[in-house]
Amino acid sequence: MPDGSGKKDIKAMLPAELEAEFKELGLLGYRAAQAFRWLSRGVTSFEEMSDLPRALRQELDERYVIPCLRMLRRQTSRMDGTEKFLWELPDGESVETVLMRYKHGNSVCISSQVGCRMGCAFCASTIGGKVRDLTASEMLDEVLRTGIAAQAEISNIVLMGIGEPLDNFDNVMRFLTLVNEKEGANIGMRHISLSTCGLVEAIDKLAGLHLQLTLSVSLHAPDDETRSKLMPVNRAYGVDELYAACERYFQATGRRISFEYAMVRGVNDTPRHARLLAGRLRGTGSHVNLIRLNHVPERGLEPSDEETVRAFAGELSAGGVTVTVRRRLGSDIDAACGQLRRGRMRGS
Ligand code: SAH
Repeated sequence: MPDGSGKKDIKAMLPAELEAEFKELGLLGYRAAQAFRWLSRGVTSFEEMSDLPRALRQELDERYVIPCLRMLRRQTSRMDGTEKFLWELPDGESVETVLMRYKHGNSVCISSQVGCRMGCAFCASTIGGKVRDLTASEMLDEVLRTGIAAQAEISNIVLMGIGEPLDNFDNVMRFLTLVNEKEGANIGMRHISLSTCGLVEAIDKLAGLHLQLTLSVSLHAPDDETRSKLMPVNRAYGVDELYAACERYFQATGRRISFEYAMVRGVNDTPRHARLLAGRLRGTGSHVNLIRLNHVPERGLEPSDEETVRAFAGELSAGGVTVTVRRRLGSDIDAACGQLRRGRMRGS
């Protein structure tokens, strides 16, 4: 992708593509491998590629651009050490990345679009609609820049930040290939989760790629009536259609799907909803992650109280479904989707 200067984005290139480019320039293959390793370490200029001849660095600088994110804001949770970064993209737009520290390693939650066009009723990311897709190199830079800024080795990635990853399919797949490269960030597919609001055709397309990543589906309601109120996407693909796609995904990949369920007071949190959900998922081996809604001032929906969440979880377990109640990491730093970017747009 050329930027405004007409230069190509070198960081979005896969090793084989970089090699082909370099070959055209009359360079040996190992120069491409050297450059790829530098890019995967997060260098911001060709100047830093110290084992490339100076003349080559200059030539590369004339032809290519290395898109980089610039930190606008960094917040650290006093409660659990979760960190949230607001980044400025090369065109002045901004996105968020969250770093969560667990005993088993560090996980980054990255954004895949600037804004979102899915329109979920409870979500801050979608309020201004979608501005644009992120490129593969911008997503890669979220991972690299976060690791560098926090001096943290990143072992897991979740695509659960701003945006709908399956609505930016090609760039997200390219990002996954880049970040998975042995000579690059080398993050295994089993250490990557992708969360979707349920774009059925894209789920089928993903199933066809047979990746070993974990697919999470944001369900949030077991029936069309409730789900369509919360998620407009449900009017395009209803609950039955979504479950059928999940089943096909499991058949194709052997990977069980986990369902996200944000508890919204008085909307999707009643015993009737729990029983409906258990009835649907019993025997499928799927897992449900319950989370209390993060309150977003613009949206006018309230989180269920803790007792209701516990009762709902109990009803699911009794109905034969495995369930976890997710801790709300970083709730003191607005770590929920899109809240920091919204804050910037409001000027706070
Ligand atoms: N578009 C993708 C990924 C981004 S959202 C998706 O829909 O899955 C990541 C997760 O956060 C989704 O499960 C989403 O439904 C949830 N979410 C968004 N706003 C929330 C809020 N205010 N409280 C709790 N969860 C929220």
